Formats: sequence, C-alpha cells, structure tokens
Amino acid sequence: MNRHGAGMVSLASPRCATDVIASDVADAVSDVVQTDLLSCGRCPRLRHYLKQLRHQYPDYWNRPVPASGNTDAPLQIIGLAPGLHGANRTGRPFKGDASGDLLWRVLSQLGIEDQVQITNVVKCLPRNNLPLASEVRRCQRFLVPELSAMPMTSVILALGGVAHKAIVQALDARQVDYPFGHSHCHQIGERWVVDSYHCSRYNVQTGRLTETMFRDVVELAYQFATDQPK
Ligand code: SF4
Repeated sequence: MNRHGAGMVSLASPRCATDVIASDVADAVSDVVQTDLLSCGRCPRLRHYLKQLRHQYPDYWNRPVPASGNTDAPLQIIGLAPGLHGANRTGRPFKGDASGDLLWRVLSQLGIEDQVQITNVVKCLPRNNLPLASEVRRCQRFLVPELSAMPMTSVILALGGVAHKAIVQALDARQVDYPFGHSHCHQIGERWVVDSYHCSRYNVQTGRLTETMFRDVVELAYQFATDQPK
C-alpha cells in the first residue's frame, strides 16, 4: 500500500479487475494552454534544435506537438516525445514513423482507433530521442492539463519508463511507490496507469517488445478502461 491507499498490480491475465490534431483537444484543454504550447520555446536546447531543423526540413512541422484524439476517450496513451521523421514531421503524435505504425496497427487490429487520446510527455523533439530531466519537468505544464482534461474513469497507458515517471510526477505521487514494469497496473489517486515498454523500433528490433506483447498490453488497458464504473 502507499500513501494513496493503493498499490501496483502485476497483470498476468487480460483483465485488471481492481486488484488528430491540436484542435481535437482544444475544447477540453483551454485555448490559452494550447496557444501557449504551440508557441512554447521554454527549453533552449530544444528550441535551437527545432530552429535548425526548420532549415534542414522546411516541410516538417518542427514545433511542439499537441495531443490528438478524443478527450472523451476511455484510453489515454502517453509516449516520450515526438520522433524526428514521425510526429515532428506530421505534427501529430505517433504519426509517420515505425513506432507510430506499430501503435496504429495494434489500435486498428483492436478496432479502437477512435477510442484513444494520444500525446507525449515532452512536446518538442529532443536530439537522439533523449530529453533532459529538466525538459520533462518543464513540459509538465502541458501534460498536467492534458491529464485533467480526460474523464476520471479513463485509463492511462504509459509507453516507457520516462513517460511513466512523468505521469507519476504529474499526478503528484511518489516515484518510489510506483515502479515501472511492463504490464504493471497502478492506481494513483483516482486514476489508473498501465505500463508498457515503448513501442519504439529499437525495442522491437531487440526483442524487448514483440507486437503480440504490445497488442496484449493495449488490449488490457482498453478492457480495463471500459470496465471502469461510469
Ligand atoms: S518541451 Fe515542452 S516546455 Fe519545452 S519548449 Fe517544448 S513545449 Fe515548451
């Protein structure tokens, strides 16, 4: 047990029983926050990198990438940061690269493409996909309202350990109470968080995460979300 009166459950079964684009989200996350996000340059390292990329890839989005999808969705999927040729190109989280292809293929297989909201804990592309801890912290100003905009009954699927830690921080909980683990399920206050290894090309190529493993954990999180009392 922890200070929230809840703990972590490792899931062997497919059930967790108690043990788009920027404008899609603008209705629920205030317009002020959305406008602030799109013009944000608070992280100097990331701001300079995007500036360079505007010359190198003038047709790319090259700006902070807002959440996409349905804020009434039962499932909120949260990754690390935009990929260079994925979200940083298209302006939509998990669109246009290998990790996005895997995520959308699994969502399609499960028939839940329109039942999710998708975002990243860091909204700007970091070099080598490695945001600094200070950048993760700074971008909480956008993650917190995105979490708050979702129904309390929605379930969060955290992709990777960095996303998991940022979500724990955004929910004002202690890291030590909620260790990351693939297919682990945590109740944090009134919210449930399910963890998955990130669906990156690297994790798939190294065998850390297979497509079957990923489909199982997405299905688990979705089933758990739709089982929540409304
Ligand atoms: S990572 Fe977040 S806080 Fe940093 S510049 Fe981008 S939008 Fe702003």
